[in-house]
Amino acid sequence: MIKMEDIIRDGHPALREVAKEVSLPPSSEDKKILSDLLQYVTNSQNPEIAQKYGLRPGIGIAAPQINISKRMFAVHLEDGQGNLHSYALFNPKIVSHSVEKSFLTSGEGCLSVDRNVPGYVHRYSRVTVTGLDLEGSPVKLRLKGLAAIAVQHEIDHLNGIMFYDHINLKDPYNEPPGSIPLER
Ligand code: ZN
Repeated sequence: MIKMEDIIRDGHPALREVAKEVSLPPSSEDKKILSDLLQYVTNSQNPEIAQKYGLRPGIGIAAPQINISKRMFAVHLEDGQGNLHSYALFNPKIVSHSVEKSFLTSGEGCLSVDRNVPGYVHRYSRVTVTGLDLEGSPVKLRLKGLAAIAVQHEIDHLNGIMFYDHINLKDPYNEPPGSIPLER
């Protein structure tokens, strides 16, 4: 199982690489990595397991964060409406997005970033994402709210982008017209 010591931190060059596509159909090795990623986020949200293994809670993790530069990520979260979003995807791709943006009023965090970085990250409010699930079957997800934000954060990791790259350093709490605040 993935533990905190397996997660590379800010400053590690692998976090800045563009990850490679997973060869299809996914190998059993790649399936194991992806299911381990999903297991990490699920376990990290279980207070007993998280405490036992010292896991920092997270809602998403991407393969580059465990120093595997391949295009896969897992998210596991409950949105504001009480819906569970639990996805593990190979070769995810944003195929369309809204013009409208939104941002978390609490800002974003990252399992690879140990400091708190203040500021808003403005992302698309709605995205349509394609990819392959753990069984290698094609999926198409239409996401909004927290799920849309989490998936964009994880896909950024596959492109070597960190959440704080999006924060306006001169004005970290700027709110561009039309960007919708989202409470967590
Ligand atoms: Zn992250």
